[in-house]
Amino acid sequence: MARRESKGFVQLEWVCPNCDGRNPGSVKTCGNCGAPQPENVKFQRAANEKIVTDEKLVQAAKAGADIHCGFCGTRNPANAVTCSQCGGDIKEGKARQAGQILQAAPTPPKIVTCTNCGTENPGSETTCSKCGSLLPRAAAPRLEPAQVKAAASQKDTEKKKPNWLLFGGIGAFLLTCCLAILFLFVFPSKSVQGTVTDVRWQTSVPMQEVQAVHYSNERGSAPSDAYNVSCHTESQEVCEEKTIDRGNGFAEVVQECHTESDEYCSYTVDEWKTIQTYDLSGNDLFPVYENPSFASDQRLGSASEDLTVYFSTSDGQQTYSPGSISEFQQFQIGSTWTLKMNVVGGITSVER
Ligand SMILES: [Zn+2]
Ligand SMILES: [Zn+2]
Ligand SMILES: [Zn+2]
Repeated sequence: MARRESKGFVQLEWVCPNCDGRNPGSVKTCGNCGAPQPENVKFQRAANEKIVTDEKLVQAAKAGADIHCGFCGTRNPANAVTCSQCGGDIKEGKARQAGQILQAAPTPPKIVTCTNCGTENPGSETTCSKCGSLLPRAAAPRLEPAQVKAAASQKDTEKKKPNWLLFGGIGAFLLTCCLAILFLFVFPSKSVQGTVTDVRWQTSVPMQEVQAVHYSNERGSAPSDAYNVSCHTESQEVCEEKTIDRGNGFAEVVQECHTESDEYCSYTVDEWKTIQTYDLSGNDLFPVYENPSFASDQRLGSASEDLTVYFSTSDGQQTYSPGSISEFQQFQIGSTWTLKMNVVGGITSVER
């Protein structure tokens, strides 16, 4: 279960669309040019956010979302009855959006130049140290998810147009690679005549025995056939901090924590292990397999074989590994075959 704890409130800021000045969230009309904050101008997180301790600001943060007057659009506090600008009934207004998670402000540049007097100020400041006017937007604000969505739907028509040039480039590259592989390894570049001079087979039969295998501190539960099982649970607290827009120029910083637990187990499992391999080999076309006797707690694993045919060609000796015993058995000593070779000298196929 997630536990939720409020860490307090931080003041947001908004950028005046008229003069680009950055205003503190609690200010409802631009301190530079006097324009009221329009309803569609979102709050952003400030670069130098601090938990608000001033009681008046805390109360303002705790109030609900601000309401834009239905008559003149002016931002009014949630508890207003009439508009501070035009005196209209606030009931006709529209509350600002609240509850969105706000992304952290982008790192501010080191210096912001005042548009009013030209003084250079630290990037995290909002007002000019010399003339007191609001400093301009320091960096492109990061878009909120809602804004991103809006921007995305606006650009939908552009985005749906695939980048054929890019696809074409990737396609051409892959095609070139495929052709190179085909050319080097698959396509025969020449044929030579070869006579079988020798054949060789080697067979292996593994002898297996049940052995107790110990596993210690494996993550997850023990298998059902395990014994000597001992398990313990390790828990850790995983926390995440979210900054949530309150719609009134402030955001609440909330820490959400939940416990993640993992089980670790030590146990023993009986497993079949190969203890010995019985190999036989020969230089004829009839591979045979060793058939060792084994005890009641042992078994024979699946047998495997290695098959090789040696050809003498005008290019020297070539070897070929047939894929099956029935193919292997066609290579009578002294028979002549056509070997298709690839560029790097490997045999791609063998024909009579
Ligand atoms: Zn302004
Ligand atoms: Zn009004
Ligand atoms: Zn200035």
